[in-house]
Amino acid sequence: MTQDSEPCRVGVVILPARKMNLAAIQFLILAMNKEQTLFQFEFYNFGTDTDPLLELLDSRKTVGRKLTKRLMLDFVTRSQTRIRKRSDELGLSEGPPDRFVIVSQCRFDDNFYTARSGGVSVIALGNWKRFMAPPSFVEFVQALLVREAIAALCPSLRGSVHLGTKGCLLDFTEHLSDARQKVLRGYVCHHCSSRMQEDEQPALADAVTHLLDRQWLGQPTDPRTPAGVMVSLRYDLFTAKGRQETPKEAFLTALRQEGAKQITTGIGALILAVLFFFLGLKTGGR
Ligand SMILES: [Zn+2]
Repeated sequence: MTQDSEPCRVGVVILPARKMNLAAIQFLILAMNKEQTLFQFEFYNFGTDTDPLLELLDSRKTVGRKLTKRLMLDFVTRSQTRIRKRSDELGLSEGPPDRFVIVSQCRFDDNFYTARSGGVSVIALGNWKRFMAPPSFVEFVQALLVREAIAALCPSLRGSVHLGTKGCLLDFTEHLSDARQKVLRGYVCHHCSSRMQEDEQPALADAVTHLLDRQWLGQPTDPRTPAGVMVSLRYDLFTAKGRQETPKEAFLTALRQEGAKQITTGIGALILAVLFFFLGLKTGGR
């Protein structure tokens, strides 16, 4: 692919839930557009009452995969019509994308967490729980969206690929809780990389590895870097900050770092304070 080639456009619809930091999610996903030229994410904010599929998926409940698949069939056509109509009303020139990904908080009745059909993918994150961190929720969404971009670019990687958990982004990982390995430090294994070559996407494996390596996020202390912006948006990325210590862990770390001398000084100060307290009491009694 040359520099001038058009990227593969992927429309993203996020069905927000309470407590979801939508600004942080959108920022991190869109930041990937600057890091490579093969695919491009673009957000669309359709009202959930405008489409039967979105209405079904706008829930934290269990939804049937069969019904979902049925409603996915014409979703691309319905969305493209909606985008064209709105763009015409606003006098905008660019047409709609050919592929869409819906990020939902629901769960499928078979507990798998993705469905792909007719140019649309659904990522069902209802089974994501806090104990699965690290990585954080946003890093899960980031990696799973990159996976869908691969599906958009490579026909041979559209289905499930390999059962073995290799830490490859295309690991099958039946349950969401098993997906953390590929999200934490996903790479592209030799098998999947060969498939990308066959699908005439020779630069894709490197682009994916770069995105999931996350070094491009930079330092959270620098407000100009993506990691710094995420801090401003009040979101703690695992990759940039690491896991936060519990109060107990922080106390024990502080004890270790202060060392015996400091502790002795502290104890000395405590004894003095107790002495003053008693002396004060005595003085007050006179
Ligand atoms: Zn692989």
